[in-house]
Parts: sequence; C-alpha cells; structure tokens
Amino acid sequence: MLAMEYRGPQRVRITEKPMPEIKHPEDTIVRVVRSCICGSDLHLYNGNVPDTRVGETFGHEFIGVVEEVGTEVTKVKVGDRVIVPFNIACGKCAFCKQELYGNCHEAAPQATAAGGIFGYSHITGGYAGGQAEYVRVPYSNVGPTVIPEGMDLDDAVMLTDVVPTGYQAAEMGGIQPGDTVVVFGAGPVGIMAAKCAWLFGAGRVIVFDREEYRLEFVRNYAQCEAYNFESIEDPVVFVKRTTDSLGADVCIDCVGAEAAGSAMQTITGRKLLLQAGSATALHWAINSVKKGGIVSIVGVYGPTDNLVPIGNVVNKGITIRANQASVPRLLPRMIEHVQNGVINPKALLTHRIPLEEIADGYRIFADKLDNCIKPVLIP
Ligand code: NAD
Ligand code: ZN
Repeated sequence: MLAMEYRGPQRVRITEKPMPEIKHPEDTIVRVVRSCICGSDLHLYNGNVPDTRVGETFGHEFIGVVEEVGTEVTKVKVGDRVIVPFNIACGKCAFCKQELYGNCHEAAPQATAAGGIFGYSHITGGYAGGQAEYVRVPYSNVGPTVIPEGMDLDDAVMLTDVVPTGYQAAEMGGIQPGDTVVVFGAGPVGIMAAKCAWLFGAGRVIVFDREEYRLEFVRNYAQCEAYNFESIEDPVVFVKRTTDSLGADVCIDCVGAEAAGSAMQTITGRKLLLQAGSATALHWAINSVKKGGIVSIVGVYGPTDNLVPIGNVVNKGITIRANQASVPRLLPRMIEHVQNGVINPKALLTHRIPLEEIADGYRIFADKLDNCIKPVLIP
C-alpha cells in the first residue's frame, strides 16, 4: 500500500509499505478515504518531537471504511464507514473510565504527557498513522464511530480532531455568559475554539495571529474580532486597554511550541536559555488574562519546553487547564452540532491533495502558502 514516510526534518515522501495486519482481537483494518494534515504534524515534520523515527507514517485525523475486524470487535463491522478519533484508548483503564481518553494508560504506558495517538512518534505508542491507504485501528470497541447517514465526508474527517479539540479548548476555559475570551492562534484549532466560545455564552471573542488571510477567515467564520499581533501594539497591552485594564476572563492557547528553536528535547543549561520566549502565545495568555482568570491550553508542547512565567500565574491566581482533547467523550455531541448546522467544519478544508502529493501538502500547510487553512489528503 502507499503510505507517507518521514525522512527527517521537513522531508516527507510517499512510499510503498506492507499492508497492516490484525495483531489483536480488538483491532480493525480501515481503508482510509480522507486524512488531514494537522498543526500537530508540523511539530513532527519540523523534527521537534522526541523519538520520531525515520520511516514512520504520520496521520491521526482520518476516516475510512472497515475492511477487516478482529474476533472481539463488536462496535463496528466490515463495510462500515467510520470516524476514527485521534486518541488510541483502551476504554478500561483508570483514565478512560473518567473519559480522559486522551490520557489512556494502556495504549501508551511509556508516555509522560499523553495516551496513544496514531502516527505521533514513539512517545505516544509508536502506532502507524493514517496518512496511508490502510491503517490498523487498535481498541476498535472504543474509538471508531459509524459516520451518520448523509454526513459529508469532509465534515466527518474534521470530527477526528479539530472540532472536538476546538470545543474542548473553549470548554476548559470555563466560559461564563458575557465573558471576554481571547484565542491565540488562527489555525484550524484556534478558528474552531473561537467558534465554540460563543456556544458557552462568550460576550466577546478576540483572536490573534500573524497571518492576515487566517485572520480574515476567522473573522468571517467565527464572527469575532481578529488582530495581527505584528501590526497592532503588544497583544497584552491591547487586551488590557480594551477591558478596562482588567484583562480577559479566559485566554486560550491554540499555538503551542513554535517551530523555530523550541526543540522538544530534554534541554539543559545554555540550551534551555535559548528556549526562553519560545512560547510567546502562552506568555501572552498568562499576562493578558485577568486575576483569577482561566488559561486553557490545547497547543502542543514538549515535556520541558519553556520558561513559563509561573510567578505571574501564582500572583494573579490563574487557573491553567490543559489536555489532549478527549475525542471519544465529545464525539456524540459534536456529531449533533454538525448535523444541526451549529458547526460547519468542512469550510476549513481549503486544499484537497492526492496522497501521492503529500510532500506538497506539508509544504503548503507548513509555509502557509496559497491561503491554506487545512489540507485534506485523498488516497
Ligand atoms: P497551525 O500551525 O495551523 O496554527 C497555528 C497558528 O498559530 C498559525 O496560524 C500561526 O501563524 C499562529 N501563531 C504562531 N505564533 C503565534 C503567537 N505567538 N500568537 C498567536 N498566533 C500565533 O496549527 P493547528 O492545527 O491550528 O493547531 C494548533 C495547535 O494545537 C498546535 O500546537 C497543535 O499541535 C495543537 N493541537 C492540540 C490538540 C490537542 O488535543 N490538545 C489537537 C490538535 C492540535
Ligand atoms: Zn490533529
């Protein structure tokens, strides 16, 4: 089968790989019909995630058709078209029992920061990803969910990650009616977080990014304010000035570790100093939220990434909430939101790219070419 293959920083290609096989009675094999490239893949692509090995196949946002099922699979059957959440979760461990599917202990016991994730290095279990023609889906009685009749496949693929992640980002913010919510990052996740902030009763939503076309997109899509942090004054000053000096009620970080100089490795001494300020968005979030406010983080960071201004967190009494999205927990509600027209996620898919042209897909998305919001790969 054809599959994406990582060759080293900023080098990916398409290659021939052996077909995946059932290894456990709860596995299924899924034939991929849509597979997206995510901002999280860019951390891998840039070589910033430890234990990302040459030869790995990325891809955690895919939908497809069940081709083969293990003997203990009851949730789906051969021929079903399924949404596959990016989390690989056993459904039985202490964390899954609390619906913390993004923190499953069985799927990736060696991980310090997350549970299992498709195609996301060996720190999340070393599972092959879905930027391929076929993929093995472990624990298929937990994650895979049948695509409802009539749902557009382009909407369905966005339910694997972006919709629930943006929603959870807003949810973790604990938004109260009338709140001023500031979202850092107008990538697909930030756009969705801004959209979802209104569902929790926000009174004002402000988004910051540096890409004018993304700001324009989010202004229209989420009906919010959106500013270029490179052309206005400091975002912290701006937020303070427009909130009677109080600060925002909720700040949401949808940026994460920045590509340049934020290697997610264990870093020591001088190297650590070089990391200072690599989490600009997180610093801005902490410094522009009000006293007693909430900072919600879904942006992805390495284990020892940044010098966080923790003193300001303590002094201002800020609550920080952060996690990998728990997609299986949110999926039923997100399906309803799409079916009821509350969220229209396919609007974010600006580029359709044949799987064979994956290198172009990564380049266009990483370099923000051609007004790209999000590319979807079609095997
Ligand atoms: P993306 O790379 O397309 O978007 C990030 C955006 O942030 C870009 O538009 C960039 O211009 C902007 N940006 C960079 N520095 C900024 C700053 N200092 N302030 C404001 N904006 C800034 O990525 P995406 O797909 O939207 O994902 C966003 C983040 O969310 C990534 O870190 C990704 O890994 C993470 N993510 C987390 C989860 C989860 O479950 N927690 C799931 C999906 C994605
Ligand atoms: Zn993703």
